[in-house]
Amino acid sequence: MSSADVVVALDVGGTGMKCALVRGDGVVLHAERHPTDAGRGPDAVVDTVLGVAEGLAGRARADGLDPVAVGVVVPGVIDEARGIAVWSANVGFRDVPLRDLAHGRLGLPTALGHDVRAGGLAEARLGAGRDAGHVLFVAIGTGIAAAHVVGGTAVTGAHGAAGEIGHIQVRPGGPRCGCGRPGCLEAVSSAAAIGRRYSALAGVPATAAEVAGRAGGGEALAADVWREAVEALADGLATGQALYDVETVVLGGGLVRAGARLLDPLRAALHERMTFHREPRLVAAALGDEAGCLGAALLALDTLEK
Ligand SMILES: [Zn+2]
Repeated sequence: MSSADVVVALDVGGTGMKCALVRGDGVVLHAERHPTDAGRGPDAVVDTVLGVAEGLAGRARADGLDPVAVGVVVPGVIDEARGIAVWSANVGFRDVPLRDLAHGRLGLPTALGHDVRAGGLAEARLGAGRDAGHVLFVAIGTGIAAAHVVGGTAVTGAHGAAGEIGHIQVRPGGPRCGCGRPGCLEAVSSAAAIGRRYSALAGVPATAAEVAGRAGGGEALAADVWREAVEALADGLATGQALYDVETVVLGGGLVRAGARLLDPLRAALHERMTFHREPRLVAAALGDEAGCLGAALLALDTLEK
């Protein structure tokens, strides 16, 4: 790549898209955000995605840069090999051939990826998992999803659905998950689940961040809810470690903003659960909410090496 070469990167979420022009060495030269307005329906969202990507390519050329590839990441089930957004509830996509549509509009090599896998890819190559060959990135927010990155490549699974660690059943008979089963990890330990659990017991609404704060301040109910969530998370991560045997687990998403209040008890609980397994290093993500967009850029760059 020449120093004027850039890739166009888009991380499309249910509410907003994070977009950037990124150089081959991972440096972001320009970033912008746009609303997704998923309620307008999939056709309108696709139109916005293509329009924003085209606008970024035009901006690059106006700045004397040369856009050479496009990377788009979306949530849900993504068939990366065929470039199809198979199913994405948040964005309203169902079997959208987004890669070919973007390629047709911009005339540039295009990669389509999954948002959490792309975030994990970025953390593994550029962020908190940089020095490890085997990384598990776990994003904990409204739900819980993971990306297993080996040697700088995120494993997609046979059907584009690898990494659904949030649906490991950790509490049989526990709270019902959005997927329909009771006791999935994300029904107990996601930020949304922690807020729900505390609110139901305390009779007042609270977010997971508030529960963490109250637990730290010595409130018994908040401390119980927080501990239960941490214990369940440790069970899920122990299962993950049995399956993946990684060097580093990178925790991302909103819940990790609790910092040591999450990481310290979680490290201890995970340590207790290790028998013959090698204990992974447990660290907070380094790239924040830019990770997905940087991952989209990496996927775009990877298309040029093939
Ligand atoms: Zn589930």
